[in-house]
Amino acid sequence: MAPSMRVGDVEVQGLADGILKTSLDLVIGMERAEADKLVGGTDNGSLYIPVNNFLIRRAGKTILIDAGAGNTMQPTLGRLPANLRAAGVDPTAVTHIVMTHLHPDHANGLVDDAGKPHYPNAEIVLHQTEADFWMKPDGANDPDRVKGNRARTAINLKPYLGRLRRVRDGEDYLGFTPVLAPGHTPGHTCWLLAARGGGFMAFGDVVHLSAIQISHPDTALTYDLDKDQAIKSRKRILDMAATERLGIAGAHVNAPGFGYVVRKGPRFSFEPAG
Ligand SMILES: [Zn+2]
Repeated sequence: MAPSMRVGDVEVQGLADGILKTSLDLVIGMERAEADKLVGGTDNGSLYIPVNNFLIRRAGKTILIDAGAGNTMQPTLGRLPANLRAAGVDPTAVTHIVMTHLHPDHANGLVDDAGKPHYPNAEIVLHQTEADFWMKPDGANDPDRVKGNRARTAINLKPYLGRLRRVRDGEDYLGFTPVLAPGHTPGHTCWLLAARGGGFMAFGDVVHLSAIQISHPDTALTYDLDKDQAIKSRKRILDMAATERLGIAGAHVNAPGFGYVVRKGPRFSFEPAG
C-alpha cells in the first residue's frame, strides 16, 4: 500500500514515480568522505534518490503534487500514472496538478511520448514567477541548461495552456498557499496547506539528498541554478517547518517521504512519519 500521512483533517498519499540515479559528484560544499558516510556509503559516489509525488483528495478535488519524469530521464522512472491507477485513481480523474517547479523530474511526466497529456482534465497550478521564468524567451546569456529546460517546458505545458493557473505570493488557491523558496529554480515553490489541527507543506526540492541536506543545509547541489539563494531558502524553509511543526512531504526525501523537521542544536534532523 502507498504510504500516507494524516495532518489534521488532510490525508496525503505518497505515489512514487521511481528512483533516480545520481552522484555525490554533484555535491558542493562538503568533503566526499563525509558525504559518503552520511548517505550510508556508495559505490564510487553513485546513489539513488526517490522521486515522490503526492495525492490529496479534498472538497471533491483530486490533486497531485508534481507529475514525475515520464519516459525522458531513466528507465527506473515514469511510473506515476501506473501507481496512480494502482491506488484507485484514473489519471483522467485528476483535477489539479500543483507544481513545485518545472524541472524534468517533476514536469516531464505531464505528457506522454507523443506530447499528449497524461492528465487530460487537470488544471496546472504553479507560481507566477516559475511560470514566467520558464515560459519567457531565452536571453543571449542564459546557460544551455536553462534554454534546454525552456524548450522542454513548452512541450510539457502545451496541452495545458488553456488551463494554467498562475498563483501569486500570499494567494490562497484550493486551500494551498505558495511559499516561494527560490534558488533551485527562480520560482521554486513550497505549498502550504492549512489543515484543521495542523499544517502540511509540500517542500519540493528544498532538499535533494535528505541524508545530507537536512542536517547540513549549507550543502548545495549543482542542480541549483543559484546555490547561495538555494541555501538561504533551504534554511528558511527548514526553520519554518520545525517552528510550525508542519507535516512535510519532500520530492526526494527518502522513504516514506513524509515526516517532520526537528531542531537538533544549531542544525535540523528529520523524523519520518508513520
Ligand atoms: Zn527534483
